[in-house]
Parts: sequence; structure tokens; C-alpha cells
Amino acid sequence: MLDADFFRRWMTATATSVAREAERLTDLDSPIGDADHGANLQRGFTAVAATLEKEAPDTPGAVLTLTGRQLISTVGGASGPLYGTLLRRTGKALGDAAEVSEEEFAGALRTGVDAVMTLGGAAPGDKTMIDALVPAVDALPEGFAAARAAAEAGAVATTPLQARKGRASYLGERSIGHQDPGATSSALLIAALQEAAE
Ligand code: ADP
Ligand code: MG
Ligand code: MG
Repeated sequence: MLDADFFRRWMTATATSVAREAERLTDLDSPIGDADHGANLQRGFTAVAATLEKEAPDTPGAVLTLTGRQLISTVGGASGPLYGTLLRRTGKALGDAAEVSEEEFAGALRTGVDAVMTLGGAAPGDKTMIDALVPAVDALPEGFAAARAAAEAGAVATTPLQARKGRASYLGERSIGHQDPGATSSALLIAALQEAAE
């Protein structure tokens, strides 16, 4: 079973890896974006880590809804509302249980990913965070390591794609040949699940 402490560790592990990889995320956002993705997420997850420490929400759902609200108000750009929606909707789907099973979490995360697709209008293959998140959710029933591998493979597989959503889509064919920054940060988010479980 996964408790509130597990979800707090997930978010703080994400904050640590986003801070470590911020420069790389911003570099990926340079040729096909506006070179701010690492800075955007680092600002957001730094605020999340501080808020979770101060408020210590005591259910899995409350940890994720608080995180989602915080990301919406601090990240900005396209990715802020999208990541905020992902975590807020996943948290809402978990309800107010003190502990949730891995199966319940997998179902809730799918609800969150579906909400991101509805909000942003992106489908798999559009070269966005969805290309890491959908394979991760599909693999999650096999465990966190499988989800991590699927997300990382999904992020790498965005390189040959032409972007059809977000800022990178303005480049048309020139978006081909670059890995998507949002898919890369989504792979960090999913990888942090395994770190939280250790
Ligand atoms: P901005 O483009 O506003 O500067 P960021 O640089 O923080 O925002 O985030 C860019 C990332 O957001 C992209 O790499 C992509 O993965 C993701 N993204 C952009 N638009 C969408 C969308 N409509 N649906 C899903 N993801 C999107
Ligand atoms: Mg950007
Ligand atoms: Mg921007």
C-alpha cells in the first residue's frame, strides 16, 4: 500500500531530479521552444517541496491535489497548467483514503493523464509529455521500474517526431530531430516513483 509519506517522497524526489536536470531540460527547450522548461519546473517543484514540508497533508489525494495547485500557480508556461492538472486530477481520483493500492494509483494516474490530453488536446505521437506519460501509465501495472523504462523510451522516441502541439509545433518540420523537453521531464517524474519506493 502507498501512504501520504510515499507521495511526499515522490514529489521531493521529483524536485531533486528536476533541480539536477534543470539545465538539460532548458537546453532541450532551446532549439524547439523558448529555453525555459528547466527553470519553469525547478521554480514549481521547489515551491512544492517547501509547501509539502510546511503543510504535511496526510492523505495521498491531498498531497497530489496540493502539489497540482502549487504547480499551476508557480510554473507558468504551457507545462504549468498541464502538470498541475495531471497531479490535481490524479489526487482527486484517489479520494480521501489514508492508503491506496498500486492498482488504485495506476487507475488514478490514468485519469490524470486523460485530463492532460483533454486540456491540451495532444494525443500520443504529437511530441509532447503525453508521449512519456501514456506508455508509463500502460506499463505501471508491471511496476515502477517498468513504468520508468517505458517513460524514458517514450521520451527518446519523440526525437524523430514532428511536433503537433505546443510551441514546438510552430517550427513545423524543423521540430524533427530534437527530443521533447516535456516528455523528458515527465520521464523524470515517473522515474521518481521508483526512488520514492526504495
Ligand atoms: P512553454 O512552451 O510555454 O515555454 P514549457 O517550456 O514549460 O512551456 O513546456 C513545454 C512542454 O510542454 C513541451 O515540451 C511539451 O511536452 C509540453 N506541451 C506543450 N503543449 C502541450 C499540449 N498541448 N499538450 C501536452 N503537452 C504540451
Ligand atoms: Mg518553454
Ligand atoms: Mg515559456
